Amino acid sequence: MTRTFRYCPFCASPVVEEVRFNALRPVCPACEFVQFLDPKVAVIALVQHGERVLLIQRAVDPGKGAWSLPGGYMDAGEMPREALQRELQEEVGLPTRIGELIDIFPMVNGEGDRIGIVLAFQGEPANSPEIPFVADDAQDAGWFCADDIPKELAFESTETLIKNWKATIDKTPGERCQETEADALERPDRTS
Ligand SMILES: [Zn+2]
Repeated sequence: MTRTFRYCPFCASPVVEEVRFNALRPVCPACEFVQFLDPKVAVIALVQHGERVLLIQRAVDPGKGAWSLPGGYMDAGEMPREALQRELQEEVGLPTRIGELIDIFPMVNGEGDRIGIVLAFQGEPANSPEIPFVADDAQDAGWFCADDIPKELAFESTETLIKNWKATIDKTPGERCQETEADALERPDRTS
């Protein structure tokens, strides 16, 4: 259930439900404030470096312990690519170039209600793929080959994007993506 105001956030009068703009909406009878249940907007990125993709292990619910593509909610005034660059900077300190829009997914809450949309973009490291740190809301982060993707993925959007990405990976024998010693060095130290 999407939560609605019981009291007007501007004048504190009790809110009533009335038809406004062709739908039943919470309305303040005193100051005419109308609560629009706007969709939440999140952004995620399939950040690739060679044949590997960046995943972040979540330290908080929803999906605690599972791995997901990096991303988060958009702030007011941001454009989607800016929001992704900010999230990647905050989560793993990685300067990132954000490319094409890949897909749009429904954002679903615990009860299965659609509460918004998730915009998924292509991405790549702006320079080095080194991950300097992992933020508090993550347990770990790293680059994964298609064959090494963790089993436990956090969200439908991540599962779908990873599945589609794996299908594009060329399986030429002898050129398999493998984690090298250098990759292991790119794994970050915890900041806390
Ligand atoms: Zn009011």
